[in-house]
Amino acid sequence: MAEPYKIVIGLEVHVQLLTRTKLFCGCLNKFGLPPNSATCPVCLGLPGSLPVMNSEAFRLALRAALALNCQIASHQGYPPGFTKWDRKNYYYPDLPKNYQISQYDLPFSHDGWLEINVAKDPKKEYTPKRIGIIRVHLEEDAGKNIHDESGRGGDTKVDLNRTGTPLLEIVSHPDMNSPEEAIAYLDEVRLMLRELEVSDCEMQEGSLRCDANVNIHIPSADEPNGYAATPLVEIKNLNSFRAIGRAITYEAGRHYEQFQLDPVNFRFGKRLKTTAGWDDARGRTEVQRHKEEAADYRYFPDPDLVPVVVSAEQIATAMTELGELPQQQRSRLQTQYGLTPYDAGVLTAKGRKVVSYFETVAGSVGDGKKAANRMSDLIYPALSDRQEEIAAFPIPAEMFAHFLKETESSGQDPRRKAFAYMLEHNADVAAAKTALGIRDAGEFDEGKLREAVVVAITANPKAVTDFKKGKDAAKMSIVGAVMKANKGAPNDLVRRLVDEELAKV
Ligand SMILES: [Zn+2]
Repeated sequence: MAEPYKIVIGLEVHVQLLTRTKLFCGCLNKFGLPPNSATCPVCLGLPGSLPVMNSEAFRLALRAALALNCQIASHQGYPPGFTKWDRKNYYYPDLPKNYQISQYDLPFSHDGWLEINVAKDPKKEYTPKRIGIIRVHLEEDAGKNIHDESGRGGDTKVDLNRTGTPLLEIVSHPDMNSPEEAIAYLDEVRLMLRELEVSDCEMQEGSLRCDANVNIHIPSADEPNGYAATPLVEIKNLNSFRAIGRAITYEAGRHYEQFQLDPVNFRFGKRLKTTAGWDDARGRTEVQRHKEEAADYRYFPDPDLVPVVVSAEQIATAMTELGELPQQQRSRLQTQYGLTPYDAGVLTAKGRKVVSYFETVAGSVGDGKKAANRMSDLIYPALSDRQEEIAAFPIPAEMFAHFLKETESSGQDPRRKAFAYMLEHNADVAAAKTALGIRDAGEFDEGKLREAVVVAITANPKAVTDFKKGKDAAKMSIVGAVMKANKGAPNDLVRRLVDEELAKV
């Protein structure tokens, strides 16, 4: 690390759960509905209304907590699995009840970890690192204030559709030490929760939100533990992975400057924790307030909701729903198919459906590396061009494997053309090859092709001289001449014959 300090980062991630209805009422949990159309007395906080817990939200939350290797409600002095709901009291226009139902001292899960891969050189070396998870708990979301941003001082509007939406809060230990590690952690959380169908994790729509707690440790011989720590800053309004990386880098640099200006007073313990917002356009953080302590929220158990006891049976069921997690999948793809850590990482990041497609292709062509390369070359660009998911892709895995076998000897360029033709005309590989005049190596008489190569060499003495002088490119004019005279001949075969005949000249 080039900086004269260590960055210390902990992340608080909020994800909205993919339930049909809200956490404590029957209103729809759906993004993009007309403002205030998905509300009822419960989520509006009207007097006399009573919340009822959505068990589907609890099921999804449990699945996520187990995937994050958490203990499930193991609290000293309480029966196993015992967890409860608490009221977090605060006033805000988008919170009509004046409290949020959350979990305070007995969260339903805690003490987990997630392994991330941080690439030193993404193509080669990966270093696995475990990031500790302090707690994962459930709570309800607040509504949304929509401010007039025209600058003309219009009213602020309140949309309460989001009020009562189930949220999972995942709090990590401050185990990350670079913006890259923070992004790798978020990437892994997002991939895993999407695969588990717990959340769609769309930052643009607010279904994944992240706050970063940042400070730095500066080596100091005067300190008992060998370093001075700067005061914690919690950065909010981070609405893209890029913003998170930039904000952390900016904040760490700012801490170092402040510390150098006043090393005595700018340090942990001498100042309150600060909350800051990230201004992406200006590329800087803005201090918002000095953080209240937890006691300011006057937490107390919600008298309207009974505590929950998570049973061993519920945990066992949730375990069976996990399937293969990304970390396990990456290592299996490496051992089973001989993929590099990089290729396995690319594949896993594409999601389980793409991995399943790959496994069918790899099994059928009998070569994992080739299947991965051909998919990178043909399938991924096509999916991105067509803005299509693999499930809707018109060439299923078996057909793609067949296509690869049928174009094995055609060379890269004809293969790409045939693939594009199949997609464009909804054709099979035989039709594509006929239409494009692509022929198999077996259809050509090698002896006749060799004669054509000899003819081309004789007719191009300058190319031969250039080639002998070390100009490798000169060879291609001979290959080109042979290909022109023998339309559809396999490029690989012609190249080999040209090499062999040139060696004799
Ligand atoms: Zn409601």
